Amino acid sequence: MQKEKITAIVLAGGSGKRMRAGCKKQYMELGGKPILFYSLKAFEESEVDDIILVTNEAEYCKKNILQKYGLNKVSRIVPGGAERYHSVYNGLISVTGSSYVLIHDGARPCLTQEIIKAAVESVKQYHACVIGMPVKDTIKIADSGNFAANTPDRERVWQIQTPQAFSYPMILKAYQKIIEESPKGITDDAMVVEYGNFAKVKLIQGSYQNIKITTPEDLQLAELFLKETNFP
Ligand code: C5P
Repeated sequence: MQKEKITAIVLAGGSGKRMRAGCKKQYMELGGKPILFYSLKAFEESEVDDIILVTNEAEYCKKNILQKYGLNKVSRIVPGGAERYHSVYNGLISVTGSSYVLIHDGARPCLTQEIIKAAVESVKQYHACVIGMPVKDTIKIADSGNFAANTPDRERVWQIQTPQAFSYPMILKAYQKIIEESPKGITDDAMVVEYGNFAKVKLIQGSYQNIKITTPEDLQLAELFLKETNFP
């Protein structure tokens, strides 16, 4: 039987405002290399067949990441959009011939082969799955005045990460609906699937180290985690 093609869409189309740094967070240096390098390298070494990179800095990425570190799986570079979901959509419409897509934040450098394998195995079984971890802290939902309104059962609350993996025809349809209807507050791909009731999204355990670089202290943590895994 022919192998089903798997594409990774790596997102680097954001502005990284919360980082308060001079340059966009996905290009800041971590262990001497741009943050974005690490997840591209992880997909390069995985069973994923090709990578679509979403960025508004195509030339910078080609010269300073892809060519410099010999990354060959990036088949297309497409521009980012105003919101994360516009960037994902730009990536999705340039996928060709794939059965599955793994959508990943380029700002999550601590992605491992184990996590990619778990996402690939699970998407073949469930058609929609996201990597995440059960929360460790108690979570409170606040009211508009920042008083505790309610406390969800901690056993059932997960923090969601990426990659988020889907059957390609299904996620494309789900995104087309979002682009047509532009609902507010879409922050991940699972929400896009939930919005149109396209599939039940399975939660798969990843790692507490698979953090997203959002604020300055995240850089120190990521550096520590990457050292531990002896990443190049
Ligand atoms: O803003 P946030 O931290 O949620 O971004 C997650 C990922 O999505 C980052 O890798 C960022 O570069 C990407 N993104 C994007 N296009 C946007 C906003 C965010 O590709 N318009």
